[in-house]
Amino acid sequence: MPRIEKAARTGFCFGVRRAINMLEKVARERGGVETLGAVVHNQQVLQKLAEIGVSVVNDIDDVKGDVVVTSSHGVSPDLEESIKARNIDVVSTICRSVRRAQVAAKRLADAGFFVIIYGDGNHPEIKGILGWAKGQGVATLNEKAVVALDPLPRRIGILSQTTQVPAHFAEFVKKIIDIALVKDAEIRIIDTICHDSQERQTAALELARRADLMLVVGGRSSANTNRLAELCSHLAETYLIETADEIQPLWIEGKDLIGVTAGASTAEESVDEVIKKLQELTHDG
Ligand code: SF4
Repeated sequence: MPRIEKAARTGFCFGVRRAINMLEKVARERGGVETLGAVVHNQQVLQKLAEIGVSVVNDIDDVKGDVVVTSSHGVSPDLEESIKARNIDVVSTICRSVRRAQVAAKRLADAGFFVIIYGDGNHPEIKGILGWAKGQGVATLNEKAVVALDPLPRRIGILSQTTQVPAHFAEFVKKIIDIALVKDAEIRIIDTICHDSQERQTAALELARRADLMLVVGGRSSANTNRLAELCSHLAETYLIETADEIQPLWIEGKDLIGVTAGASTAEESVDEVIKKLQELTHDG
């Protein structure tokens, strides 16, 4: 019978926990509230929040009330201004690690540096951080975007999306140094990777090294959940699942150790449901 082991680090990270607490408080006080975009990238959490009157709008034009909650990923200053210009109050649930990256981007841009963010340009966190660089920046996961800059800026600041893998960021930085360290160049590197993400990755990898199968529980649109699944997939057969119902009995056949880990926006309850389902399936077998 296969053994089932949970990674040493699961459950909400402090940023998501805080965002949910704030949102629940506002929703209860006001009998419901709208959020601009999903406050966390996890369907199960959003469904629970919907039960206490939290609804998601994707555009500021769709906000009906006089207050809107923005996500732990933060927003750009321009977006915040345009919300306020409509006389809508903003309750920000931004995580302090993301805020740190925004402040770093602003300081670099203010000091005349071109800001390169190692991250997914379509992710709301990155759109927000880029906004703080006042148009003096680019977000990319590939150094080719930097090669393409014409002229190549002499002063460059490099940051990372909070959920990236430290080793990958370091490789990217080395490539940028090779490209951009020319005469009179100045390059500043600021580590804006979230410690919670790092600890979660380390714990997941430690388990994946010993496991034959890894189940990563979390939202398919969650950046840190996808990162965990990608890292684990190099060491063990890995599946990203949102709920216990997605587990296929075929996956566990012939396995000795099944590891379970979860993204930062996955409730511990969802992880426990996965473990319970695995226990049922392994006992039935
Ligand atoms: S993963 Fe890190 S940066 Fe993202 S919300 Fe959680 S604590 Fe904040």
